[in-house]
Amino acid sequence: MSDCLFCKIRDGLIPAKVVYRDDVCVAFEDINPQAPTHLLFIPHKHIPTVNDITTEDQALVGHLFTSAAKVARERGHADANNGYRVVMNTHAHAGQTVFHIHLHLLAGRPLGWPPG
Ligand code: AMP
Ligand code: ZN
Repeated sequence: MSDCLFCKIRDGLIPAKVVYRDDVCVAFEDINPQAPTHLLFIPHKHIPTVNDITTEDQALVGHLFTSAAKVARERGHADANNGYRVVMNTHAHAGQTVFHIHLHLLAGRPLGWPPG
């Protein structure tokens, strides 16, 4: 039995506000949103960090991006005069807290750069 929080969300063992699901990924609302839209796109496959992505996972990782872009478009965030950010944090300095890769989709307000 996996002890991974996001595997449990994937399996419906822990509740989450799921907004998108297909045979490769699941997207749900972040419990502590940092923007009006803050979604997490996870692969069904448990991959702890970006360091653990292999060449076999290339299609899967691409799928996370196309899925995030699709949802961003559907929510009206894709226009040139608004826009959105997708990001994956890796290990301590980037603030990774859940070790199942997840693509953050942040949108709905101007996002500062560089990030903190
Ligand atoms: P990271 O810091 O990049 O590892 O991102 C982990 C994200 O997961 C954070 O933005 C958390 O707010 C979010 N998170 C933690 N627990 C849950 C949960 N039970 N449901 C939804 N999002 C969560
Ligand atoms: Zn997992």
